[in-house]
Amino acid sequence: DVVPLSRALISVSDKSGLIELATELEAAGVELLSTGGSAGMLRDAGLTVRDVADVTGHPEIMGGRVKTLHPRIHGGLLALRDDPGHQAAMEEHGIEPIDLLIVNLYPFEETVAAGADAAEIIENIDIGGPAMIRAGAKTNAHVAVVTDPADYADLLGEMRRTGGGTGAEFRARMALAAFGRTAAYDTAVATWMARHTGAETPPWRTLGGKLRQRLRYGENPHQRAAFYVDGSNRPGVATAEQLQGKELSYNNINDTDAAYELVSEFLPAGGAACVIVKHANPCGVARGATLAEAYRRAYDCDRTSAFGGIVALNAAVDAETAQAISEIFTEVVIAPAFHNDARDIFAAKKNVRLLKAPGLANMAEPGLEMRPVTGGFLVQDRDTGTLDAADIRIVTKVAPTESQMADLLFAWTVAKHVKSNAIVYAKDGATVGIGAGQMSRIDSTRIAARKAEDMAEALGLPEAPTRGSVVASDAFFPFADGLLTAAEAGAVAVIQPGGSVRDEEVIAAADTAGIAMVFTGMRHFRH
Ligand code: 5GP
Repeated sequence: DVVPLSRALISVSDKSGLIELATELEAAGVELLSTGGSAGMLRDAGLTVRDVADVTGHPEIMGGRVKTLHPRIHGGLLALRDDPGHQAAMEEHGIEPIDLLIVNLYPFEETVAAGADAAEIIENIDIGGPAMIRAGAKTNAHVAVVTDPADYADLLGEMRRTGGGTGAEFRARMALAAFGRTAAYDTAVATWMARHTGAETPPWRTLGGKLRQRLRYGENPHQRAAFYVDGSNRPGVATAEQLQGKELSYNNINDTDAAYELVSEFLPAGGAACVIVKHANPCGVARGATLAEAYRRAYDCDRTSAFGGIVALNAAVDAETAQAISEIFTEVVIAPAFHNDARDIFAAKKNVRLLKAPGLANMAEPGLEMRPVTGGFLVQDRDTGTLDAADIRIVTKVAPTESQMADLLFAWTVAKHVKSNAIVYAKDGATVGIGAGQMSRIDSTRIAARKAEDMAEALGLPEAPTRGSVVASDAFFPFADGLLTAAEAGAVAVIQPGGSVRDEEVIAAADTAGIAMVFTGMRHFRH
């Protein structure tokens, strides 16, 4: 799969590192073709260069707007070397193959950032460069495309490795970077145009993705909104089929995603599970011997919040579960399947939106999360971190029992999906108190315990269900007070990352209270 290099086309705006690279290419016997400015610089450095205008037999015209847009160039980049028809066309039209393309684009982004006027910005929309990059990247079976001076060292390394050529893996990697570059470049152009023209066109037309649904409005009625799918076809709200009910709203979609991701952490092999979400936070999560039982136990965590919630289930919904869900107002029910008798029961509740997802979400699959900040955006990997039993360290004198350990892992999984600061009390595979989104950990700990007390009162339980529960904290307890609050509420075992400078103090408090504590060494912030 090694393609020996015989001819390179060089056309760059950012000329850093160019002479060093071209000198090495010449030394390796590669013929250099180049456009005006790039050719001039290389000649000044004493290198031998053929002008693209010589190859095309056509001068650069219109101030460089048309330089490389010619069949002799694009034919040289697009020809399939192993296709006899392409070979014949090359011979007939005097087209020579180009097997290395060094191109970077007019500095459009920099020109915008510098505050240039519209005419100058428009002149900096590169046309021939992206055309060549895309042609070369499409033909990466034969052509290597390098679009970033930061990759020159990599190219030279590849040539040394292969004895003067490029390998398929390298060419594919560079092609991916090349298409990424032209995509980002056109996004920058479209984003500027949207702003420059004050267009009605929503600027998200410039984002990647395919429009799935125009939404009536966003989080609030005065915000425009739309729902895009990214083409990955991952099971979830983006690929679910709506079986009944009103159109999904922006908040429905956001909440349903949160619910379905969490319920997907509970594989059906481990039994039935149900998640109820409000405002993107779970307000009840439970396993059960049956799906209906899982739902009822999830509902009993916080009946007040569950009203108008989103219900996600990890298995096919049966009639008993449908009946139980139908007893209160629910916005959305999402599951991998629905039995016909369950569908019949829901049919009487016209407003309930039923979503059938094509399987559970694969929570281990890597992916990206993006979040806008003013003037930019943050990108990070999805939180696919999971715990191995081997990662867990018992730090107290008392060790958790086997059933406490199972509940600790359950609570930990839920805490990963609760907005920070997250505190989750759980017992027998069900949450009994969830504290979310507070600015202090102690407040989340108190709120979760108080909600459990409220439920005990509402359900007429003899004591708060946090008695004898376990508790998970998504990040370390910075002080002993949070842990003491949990102990007061009746928690008997704690799971948390550890790693605070006051760990010793927190461990001592746990020991004094006689409770078990384990450290995970992993944090699950979610904001
Ligand atoms: P040079 O400085 O070598 O004259 O020009 C290099 C720049 O021209 C590169 O950024 C390249 O992407 C761009 N370029 C190459 N061919 C064409 C073309 O046919 N039209 C336009 N507009 N730009 C081109």
